[in-house]
Amino acid sequence: MDPDLRSIHVHGDLTGDPEALALAATDFGHIVADRPQAVLRPGSATDIGTILRFAAQRAIPVVPRGCGHTGYGQAQARDGIVIDMARLAAIGDIREDRVTVEAGATWADVLRATLRHGLTPPVLTDYLDLTVGGTLSVGGLGGTSHRYGAQTDTVLALDAITPDGRQRGCSTTTSAELFHALLAGLGQCGVITRATLRLVPAPSRVRRYKLSYSGVRLLTEMQRRLLHERRFDHLQGQIVWGEHGWEYLLDAATYYTPPEEPDDETTLDGLAPDSTRLAREDLSYWDFVDRLDDSVRELRQTGEWWHPHPWANLLIPDSATDGFLARLLGELSPADLGAPGLLLVYPLFTEALATPLFRAPEESVAFLVATLGYAPPHDPESVRRLIDTNRQWYEQARELGGTVYPVGAIPFGQDDFVDHYGPAWPALDAAKKRFDPRQILGSGLCRPE
Ligand SMILES: Cc1cc2nc3c(=O)[nH]c(=O)nc-3n(C[C@H](O)[C@H](O)[C@H](O)COP(=O)(O)OP(=O)(O)OC[C@H]3O[C@@H](n4cnc5c(N)ncnc54)[C@H](O)[C@@H]3O)c2cc1C
Repeated sequence: MDPDLRSIHVHGDLTGDPEALALAATDFGHIVADRPQAVLRPGSATDIGTILRFAAQRAIPVVPRGCGHTGYGQAQARDGIVIDMARLAAIGDIREDRVTVEAGATWADVLRATLRHGLTPPVLTDYLDLTVGGTLSVGGLGGTSHRYGAQTDTVLALDAITPDGRQRGCSTTTSAELFHALLAGLGQCGVITRATLRLVPAPSRVRRYKLSYSGVRLLTEMQRRLLHERRFDHLQGQIVWGEHGWEYLLDAATYYTPPEEPDDETTLDGLAPDSTRLAREDLSYWDFVDRLDDSVRELRQTGEWWHPHPWANLLIPDSATDGFLARLLGELSPADLGAPGLLLVYPLFTEALATPLFRAPEESVAFLVATLGYAPPHDPESVRRLIDTNRQWYEQARELGGTVYPVGAIPFGQDDFVDHYGPAWPALDAAKKRFDPRQILGSGLCRPE
């Protein structure tokens, strides 16, 4: 650790302990391992300001880290300082339509608190052990995004600390430049410390339907139809490798609060002809939104949670989705995904994705296509090949007008970065020059092949 850094006083904990450094050099991808020189566990927002100011003077890279559930070093800082946000996780007063939370809180923490008041954030990610700061820095998509957009579209205000050490509040009406540079901004212009999130009434129950279709086009056609009809509250889909080859699953759910109940006949009208109904479950809202919990526990038990995860998350324009998926399924082998792996496929209205730095295709509908694979451990050759393949899929997607959702493992250089932001780049570039002129934030983002 820089000796001058060692002498800085913070209320929390600034450490060069090898175990803390090793932990900060991992993430869910288990592909990149960039070791920082120090980890700050801030005791307060002031600590973050102190460290940012120090780092800016010496041009030391700084990266804020939530749970580290991105996949390719996005939350790592080689020889820099990682700010572990876990301790800043307080949940503030809950009002009828909003709550202010610290950025290190997970969505599980937030939801547990808001549900006591019968309220919920409108969009929840499939996995809840992700921090508010972490998903607001990338977007945050879930089964209700077709209706509400990304989690970034449901934020009313942010507090952040910029590299000059200043704590700043921002919203669409106050310091809008900073607000728009922080949301889906990958931590490049400041460290989010608090977010005021919109809340909506929470349903108490969820009826979930899983239907299996015999081909990928039947699945996407049905998803398109259901999207336009706005029939379900939650709309997703998965493609998994089963006993008889690829299985194409529609995953849709209706929220309700008894005594009202969904009528199966109406809800399933027209869905069945090409499908087999696999499941119909009635769950509490919490059990539904926490549905990945069992799988995560299992993956931890088998150790696959710690295997390399060369995930690729792409957004494909509707008109190109069927062709793209056909090629992908033709080339992807089940071994590439690994036993627990799957493809996540679901449509979104791009109009709802209004956050400027969240890059979505230009058509009115786009599909999220995410290859969520589990590579064998101790086999860097396979991982390299899968990462190269991710890059090829990304390039094909880009040619088709697609974009990347930058949470996975796709090699990205500076030119790709500029290209990715497209029309939003000049505003981000200007914000970066204004708030982070020494370019200390965002060091983990560009990793060319
Ligand atoms: C099992 C699993 C399921 C997932 N499911 C979904 C899903 O359903 N929907 C979805 O959208 N995503 C999903 N993701 C991806 C996830 O949303 C992103 O990886 C998210 O960034 C992770 O949050 P985190 O707290 O781990 O952030 P980290 O990985 O720690 O950080 C992500 C980025 O945000 C920056 N950052 C973190 N905190 C702050 C802060 N306070 N201020 C500024 N910048 C900050 C980091 O520097 C980094 O660039 C999933 C990931 C996993 C592993």
